[in-house]
Amino acid sequence: MSELIRRTAAELSGLLSSGEVSAVEVTQAHLDRIAQVDGDVHAFLHVAGEQALAEAAAVDTARKAGEQLGALAGVPIAVKDVMTTQGLPTTAGSKMLEGWIPPYDATVVRRLKEARLVTLGKTNMDEFAMGSSTEHSAYGATHNPWDLDRIPGGSGGGSSAALAAFEAPLATGTDTGGSIRQPASVTGTVGVKPTYGAVSRYGLIALASSLDQAGPCARTVLDTALLHEVMAGHDPLDSTSLTDGYPDVVAAAKAGATEGIAGLKIGVIRELHGGDGGYQAGVMARFDESLALLTKAGAEIVEVSCPSFTAALAAYYLILPSEASSNLAKFDAMRYGLRVGPAGVEAPSAEQVMAATRAAGFGDEVKRRIILGTYALSSGYYDAYYGSAQKVRTLIQRDFAAAFGQADVLVSPTSPTTAFKLGAKLDDPLSMYLQDVATIPANLAGVPGMSLPSGLADEDGLPAGIQLLAPAQADDRLYRVGAALESLLVESWGGPFLAKNTLEAMK
Ligand code: GLN
Repeated sequence: MSELIRRTAAELSGLLSSGEVSAVEVTQAHLDRIAQVDGDVHAFLHVAGEQALAEAAAVDTARKAGEQLGALAGVPIAVKDVMTTQGLPTTAGSKMLEGWIPPYDATVVRRLKEARLVTLGKTNMDEFAMGSSTEHSAYGATHNPWDLDRIPGGSGGGSSAALAAFEAPLATGTDTGGSIRQPASVTGTVGVKPTYGAVSRYGLIALASSLDQAGPCARTVLDTALLHEVMAGHDPLDSTSLTDGYPDVVAAAKAGATEGIAGLKIGVIRELHGGDGGYQAGVMARFDESLALLTKAGAEIVEVSCPSFTAALAAYYLILPSEASSNLAKFDAMRYGLRVGPAGVEAPSAEQVMAATRAAGFGDEVKRRIILGTYALSSGYYDAYYGSAQKVRTLIQRDFAAAFGQADVLVSPTSPTTAFKLGAKLDDPLSMYLQDVATIPANLAGVPGMSLPSGLADEDGLPAGIQLLAPAQADDRLYRVGAALESLLVESWGGPFLAKNTLEAMK
């Protein structure tokens, strides 16, 4: 096992720019690690070995020629399979797109290429990003490197598992209700959902367009900041892309680690703090310890109340299926993707082909949500369901506005529990949905959120996560507080969090 897989992206950046190691060596080390462990983990749906080595060799040549390269040039990255990649398969975890090779790159992928990161491959996910465990992938579940019998979170469980298994130092995710933050929480990694509109949605296979946001995943706060900087930026191809207000997140992460957070006000959200919300004792214990560390570092902890958050999950499960049912209508067997002829029909009509294709191509969870969304949008029920959910959304935005009047950053546990066993919630959609009870409000309001590891829960020895939330376009606050808390935690653990565990366990 090469020592290079232990390194953070920031460390690799230093080694690469000083010429101590080559991009080819770094890429090969990660490809070897993937070959060694991914049979067990199944983080990747597609590994792009040859292309990755060619990209890496090109970076090495450019560096030797004295070209000015970005900080992450030559650093490998795993890309969630919801992002279109020209020439590489893109399935979004669905049979509907099996074998599809997109003719274009998503804007985020283009930005990664321009910054000369090396794409290792595409990571597994719940079908069309619906789920909290990757068990809804049409290509089989991903396994959590901490315990292979457990889920790695979802929908972006392939990306989080790749990081936790040291198969990649960086990964991308998308977060519609928690799919970056919850996988980060249950794998002991860091994930950030930026402000809505900060990262272009062009070329991301849409789930719910008013909620979807792509963001960075890594093993440290600084690494997520370095990747955030590459991913974010205005894009004329996305009409909801922000034109301004991109704070310097890398500077914020560096400042948080060195200058601390004295004087900052941190709001604990009462409605997301234990009680009867199904929060595991060990998750709450680590959360409270993090609060104590923040207090010691000079932050002031206040309690804030966001009463409408208790209706967030219900509103989300009307708005998301409504938008998803409309977005997924394009999979009609006529233009691209799967086409299935109905059995026993000699000259089927277009409608019959559509019905047979959608019956065969979509999994159960996707069908459930299409039915729910179509119902919520139907003319007799539109006001009662979709309309009411939109009103709740406004109330949640007001709650955030009021809370940010009292505190600079808000905090809660990320996910109420640690990683559960594969199969444990498959027959119980509601308990699966409850995984995101604390992450969904941020998507409904468009504000940014980060999850970082708070330690291991006593009862099962598995990672717990703490969530930080900031006002829209103040993503830098997440990085400042996140980096400060991370350095206090690392000090209290006596060393980096993951290296002692998944790396040693998975030799
Ligand atoms: N788990 C949530 C859901 O199933 C969130 C998904 C996501 O963020 N893509 O909808």
